[in-house]
Amino acid sequence: MHTKLIQFLKARFPYIYITTYEEERATKLIKQIANDEEKIKVQREVFTWTQAAGLKCSDKAIANTTSPNQLLDFIRKYEKNSIFILYDFHTFFGTKQRPGDATVIRALRDLIPYLKTNAIRKTVIFISPDLVIPETLQKEITIYDFPLPNMEEIKARLNKMISVNMKIDTSELTEDDKEKLSKAALGLTMQEAENAFALAMVNDGKLNKRDISVILEEKMQVIRKTGLLEFIQSDLGIEDIGGLDNLKKWLLKRNNSWSEKAKRYCIPAPKGVLVTGIPGCGKSLTAKAMSTIWQLPLLKLDIGKIFSGIVGSSEENMRKAINTIEAVAPAILWVDEIEKGLSNATSSNDSGVSSRIFGTLLTWMQEKTAPVFVIATANNISKLPPELLRKGRFDEIFFVDLPTLNERKEIFKVHLNKRLKDEFVCKNIKPNDEGFINYLAEKTEGFIGSEIEQVVISSLCDAFFENRPVEAYDFEKAIENTVPLSTTQKEQIVSLRQWANIRAISASAKESIESYSNDSNEDNITSNRGGRRLDI
Ligand code: ADP
Repeated sequence: MHTKLIQFLKARFPYIYITTYEEERATKLIKQIANDEEKIKVQREVFTWTQAAGLKCSDKAIANTTSPNQLLDFIRKYEKNSIFILYDFHTFFGTKQRPGDATVIRALRDLIPYLKTNAIRKTVIFISPDLVIPETLQKEITIYDFPLPNMEEIKARLNKMISVNMKIDTSELTEDDKEKLSKAALGLTMQEAENAFALAMVNDGKLNKRDISVILEEKMQVIRKTGLLEFIQSDLGIEDIGGLDNLKKWLLKRNNSWSEKAKRYCIPAPKGVLVTGIPGCGKSLTAKAMSTIWQLPLLKLDIGKIFSGIVGSSEENMRKAINTIEAVAPAILWVDEIEKGLSNATSSNDSGVSSRIFGTLLTWMQEKTAPVFVIATANNISKLPPELLRKGRFDEIFFVDLPTLNERKEIFKVHLNKRLKDEFVCKNIKPNDEGFINYLAEKTEGFIGSEIEQVVISSLCDAFFENRPVEAYDFEKAIENTVPLSTTQKEQIVSLRQWANIRAISASAKESIESYSNDSNEDNITSNRGGRRLDI
């Protein structure tokens, strides 16, 4: 734990920047490390500084150190091994609206030789909830991503809370329940976890496994508040996806990849998949169903919001999102419409901020060790930069094309079974009538999944309006009234396929495609398909 921070200290990095709301927890950790001779080689004194109180060491205030220049002067002259923690110092670094304090920034640069080369070991650590680094200090300040508390830390805090709250009834609480409660709080800061536990305790004066839902609800609130990640709860399963057998098989094979059993096979943990293709054909549906298939939480990252910088600074947003998802791990991260943010990253007019953020995401995807599986979905592949597609980022790139005949049958089955339940409504149409399903699938050549769903819905709407069971002619009318996307966007589909032929694997099973192309006309938009045909 925290080996990077220890290395930074040992390697005499002059300035370390920790972005966190958890000032207290970060300070406590630094103090522990500073005292640990084994880890850090030489023990260090720890000073803390705020603009209001100046410097303090072991609660003793040091006179005349409130102004930044007095402070930096003190650090320069101090003759013992030490660490100086400066809270909210970023206020001198400026913002988009206001320039930084040039004298302070200059003084920080002048201090560098005293921190780097002096025989005495001194390090300055900035702690602040905001990440602001002046351009001229970019190379000298190292960012340390302070991880959110792990399971053991949270459990220790929970145990402490239980021991001091004698009135709370914990008679039904087992050790296993405590683990589950702590696990549910992963992704929260220690303060937030404490608040969630307190809430769970006060609502009925008891703490037991039923409180897991209280903690999860709190966690969703907190994560929602960041505005960057959203918990997706869905009960969609593999049976809700019609077709896409190659993609489904690939995903099923990688289930439990982080298990002990997988370690015995020395299988590398999966990084993620990129699912591209024609809109409305089941990309988002697959992302949602994965959460159920793998029994892991699904968090959706709003990449547009990260890049727009609507909520806080964009770079910090990316780090925050990564930090949160790692804390919640094992989990699935769904980056929806990944191309949205990337168009900025490849243009030259945003002073490189977007490409830096994008770089952070790519490096993380490549190097992450936390069990986070990334599923990225994209409609507009022309906007995807080549570095995203390079080997090592994703384990596989899938292309979702128009559904084949077999796939359309399956999609009809999914939606008919979902909606034709009432005896009166399905008096004349049975949801599993193979003959009727074949007929519908034949008649809907070129339809995308969402259009097939719409055919079922609009047939039922007509029957409902006339207060009668649904009939075959309702379906025929709905099909006739649909102008499929494959007609209106023929050129786009052709160019998507050309792209996919070199870069992606077909999400549909080879067998389904081949049986289909035999009975289809060669020039038809539905017979030429994109993506390499493979059996997974
Ligand atoms: P996109 O590929 O644009 O992400 P979605 O996955 O959101 O499309 O599909 C929209 C809707 O269409 C889904 O919610 C689902 O009801 C229906 N749909 C699309 N493809 C399929 C499919 N292969 N199987 C079942 N339903 C599908």
